[in-house]
Amino acid sequence: MDSKERRKFRKTVLNSSRQSVRSTSSNVEDDISNYGRQLQSSSGRTNIPYPDENMDQNKCLQFQHTNLPHSSSDMIITNPLSGSPNDEEPDHPVTTTDKIEGIYEEYLDHGDESVICECCDAKLWKDEALQGKKCGTKTSYSLCCLYGKVQLPKKKEMCSSYINLFRCVDSKSKYFMKNIRRYNSMFSFTSMGGKIDTSINSGNAPYIYMLNGQNYHRMGSLLPADGRKPKFSQLYIYDTENEVSHRHSSFSEKQEASASNSDSLDIEIIQYLKNILDAKNVLVKSYRIARDCFECYTDVKVKLRLIGKREKDGRTYNLPTASEVAALIVGDDGGTIEKRDIIVQHQTGYLQSISELHPSYLPLQYPLLFPYGEDGYRLDILHREITSSSKSKRTIVTMREFFAFKLQDRRNMFSLLLNVRRLLQQFIVDGYTMIETERLHYILKQQKVPRCETYDTLCNVQEGE
Ligand SMILES: [Zn+2]
Repeated sequence: MDSKERRKFRKTVLNSSRQSVRSTSSNVEDDISNYGRQLQSSSGRTNIPYPDENMDQNKCLQFQHTNLPHSSSDMIITNPLSGSPNDEEPDHPVTTTDKIEGIYEEYLDHGDESVICECCDAKLWKDEALQGKKCGTKTSYSLCCLYGKVQLPKKKEMCSSYINLFRCVDSKSKYFMKNIRRYNSMFSFTSMGGKIDTSINSGNAPYIYMLNGQNYHRMGSLLPADGRKPKFSQLYIYDTENEVSHRHSSFSEKQEASASNSDSLDIEIIQYLKNILDAKNVLVKSYRIARDCFECYTDVKVKLRLIGKREKDGRTYNLPTASEVAALIVGDDGGTIEKRDIIVQHQTGYLQSISELHPSYLPLQYPLLFPYGEDGYRLDILHREITSSSKSKRTIVTMREFFAFKLQDRRNMFSLLLNVRRLLQQFIVDGYTMIETERLHYILKQQKVPRCETYDTLCNVQEGE
């Protein structure tokens, strides 16, 4: 019985048992009881024909009942409505009735994403959508776009060969997806701080990404210190004739033990990613310009300025050009550096932390998720239909709203983000720490206000005495 069939079967049994509890219908009880007995006594295996979705629940159960002789070792089922010594203190009817071995007793099937937000096209489950709001002819929801207030540009589609890498359609894409975090690290410009705790993944449970300590992204200089190997962004500049082998060897230590034939597959994928990022990604293009400059003028000390301010509206525009994201500085900066700019030095031995409020903070860490070098979160994205002169109290998209919008599955759109498995877990943990950091900064900036209030209260108490 494969996972799809098993899910369908669980749904049918659980739905039927819950209906029975409410209506105390004896028909369904008998059906499930008979079905359980038959499963335990029967042997052999046949394919399960999917029942028609419009079919009545009871008929659906009978349909499966008559067509489902399975091995007893495949799944053991007891009568979900009969009493059991293990269920002496049931919390609710579902717990008492769901007695399918191997399935968590709190198992809930929410069905499909049946609710569509008409403002942002997000597909939501009924239980998470909650109450929608009607604005004109459109119904919108809070979870995805804050009732239509959050508006972000649509993601620009990548070519089909790139998308296919994320679909697990062949051995190459399966290998790529298995090592997705490694490939992302291979091409990222920044390293992640914090310590990844792998001890939690010792059993057979699904992978968990756990980060300890403070999270931050750090970036090195354009060139490695003398005698040191190039890392992260330096791989875009240093000895690029052998770039693929540098990337392969830099990250091969972290690679799981693999057969020798996967080495050639690995090189092939690295070469493909390198070519596609060279052609599309504006951050990569900026670093390549710096490399060309080094090659032409070997004795000139060049710095790279990653620009932190954008002139265009963040609601409709997130695809900057190479000249909008970075600029080369030769010699003195001439007073052009803004507060949020990142200056990447020519050659130093230390790393600098990057502000999470910089528009390139996320694309620098996740080049595979932002293949064009699109902007991540920006401080100046206004809510829909808000102008800069508006007197409304809350006009700017917060970081939490930004991530909530990004993490939705949308109609007629392939979400790269939702298909990257372990890298998605890393992205969510990273996003959570960004939100927390922003909140802590806010509290830090507001210190005077709460402290004044406390002080006033103390004064009043003293005066009262
Ligand atoms: Zn929405």
